Amino acid sequence: MFKRYDQKQQFLLPLCLEEFVPENHIARVLNDLIDLVDISDIESTYSEEGCPAYHPRLLLKILLYGYLINIRSSRKIQQMTQTDTAFMYLAAMQKPDFHTICRFRSTHLDPIEEIFTQVVTFCKELDLIGSNISIDGTKVKANASPRQSKSSKAIKKEIGKILRESIEIDKYEDEIYGDSTPYQIPEELVDKKKRLEKIKAAQKKLDEEKLKKVNIIDPDAKIMKHKDGSRKPSYNCQVAVDEKEQIIVAVDVVDEENDLHQVEPMIENVKRTLGYKPTIVLADAGYFSYDNVKFLLDEEIDAYIPDNFYEVEKSGKTKKFRKSLFKYDEKKDCYCCPAAFEIPFTRIQKRKDEPDLRYYVCKHCSLCVLKNACTDSKNRTISRDPREYLMEDMRAKLNTEEGTEQYQKRMYTVEPVFGQAKENRGFRGFLLRGKRKAKIEFTMMCTVHNIKKIADFIKREGKNLKEILKMITRRGNECWNTKGILAGKLSNLC
Ligand code: SF4
Repeated sequence: MFKRYDQKQQFLLPLCLEEFVPENHIARVLNDLIDLVDISDIESTYSEEGCPAYHPRLLLKILLYGYLINIRSSRKIQQMTQTDTAFMYLAAMQKPDFHTICRFRSTHLDPIEEIFTQVVTFCKELDLIGSNISIDGTKVKANASPRQSKSSKAIKKEIGKILRESIEIDKYEDEIYGDSTPYQIPEELVDKKKRLEKIKAAQKKLDEEKLKKVNIIDPDAKIMKHKDGSRKPSYNCQVAVDEKEQIIVAVDVVDEENDLHQVEPMIENVKRTLGYKPTIVLADAGYFSYDNVKFLLDEEIDAYIPDNFYEVEKSGKTKKFRKSLFKYDEKKDCYCCPAAFEIPFTRIQKRKDEPDLRYYVCKHCSLCVLKNACTDSKNRTISRDPREYLMEDMRAKLNTEEGTEQYQKRMYTVEPVFGQAKENRGFRGFLLRGKRKAKIEFTMMCTVHNIKKIADFIKREGKNLKEILKMITRRGNECWNTKGILAGKLSNLC
């Protein structure tokens, strides 16, 4: 005996879209949340004239859901609106084509940060956010080939070559691609004029910013070294993640390879999003600088950031006596070495834009039994930056039991966030080009990360979003987004 299987069966009652997805499905949470957020900034990017456009909420929902389940291609999303029940539900059976989806993503989503902020504020109202954050960055490949990163000389050569070959290239591309999407065929290659303009713009950027190389396809992207050792045109994606439930509370995309200049902007970003400054900040050695530690001290934020040599010195893998074995005596302005000799101040080195470096040279090394373990030079020399006390205090704090425990929290706070984006959601490269658009994409990725956390919380609580919202409004927090629309919109879900 088999169950009845009839693909031509008719339904007596009309189908309800809500039945397309189970009640606790994440698409429903995403749908309800996006119904609640204020998208007036996105709506204002549309013109009143012309044919009615697809509703931006619809497009936002299917795009975010795509990012959530590792489907970012606009063609693929178009296909899913015809075959996948969750997409059909989110799009209310409408079927925007890939041009529309692609255009919406690249031209209407500048205000995505506002949506991100509203979702974070919602997390805050759910009590999913504390005040201990970890900051980290990861390099994500730009949508540009490393071969398109060229020097000034190579660009000039390329311009000559294009002028000679452009007609043949155009013919070839028309034959191959026909009427295709900007993702299949880069916009700048669509016609030779645009291509030439792009190359000339790249040359201008190279001259203005005095760069050695610039990428013609995405001039904003910079060659960056990735963890696997490869060097590719990339962006450095920054996040601040709260320890409590791993909610991303601040996001940025920068074109600087190292993280040294990101502490202050990220803290300001967190303050803007949460409305308060964090109590504790954890970050890896890439964020250590005297300026950063001083800034956090001035802000009265308890920071745990090791310097670059902290781990090496701690592991004892240094060839000679590590500097931390030499104790600085502030009163006498000298160091005391492991053989208990005083090392006096000897000279100063002037530095551009940095405080003078002070040198201390030992005069007893030739007679010392520890010399082989200490130095290969005639005399051991120790340098000291006047701000070095910041590093010494930080090391002392990290070396305490509490400091070690605190710093270890970074590993399970921020590192899994990048793991989830890259492994689960396939976010290993940008689709959009330019820093501004790369930030739109990364902010979308971070928004869906937070929506997933909200869905997990709702599941844990055994409630639905409507009940959760009622819970919040009963607490008297009726303004979970900056525009204060919760109370008005709550009726949409009831
Ligand atoms: S070699 Fe010089 S600096 Fe090093 S322990 Fe001996 S006396 Fe001190």
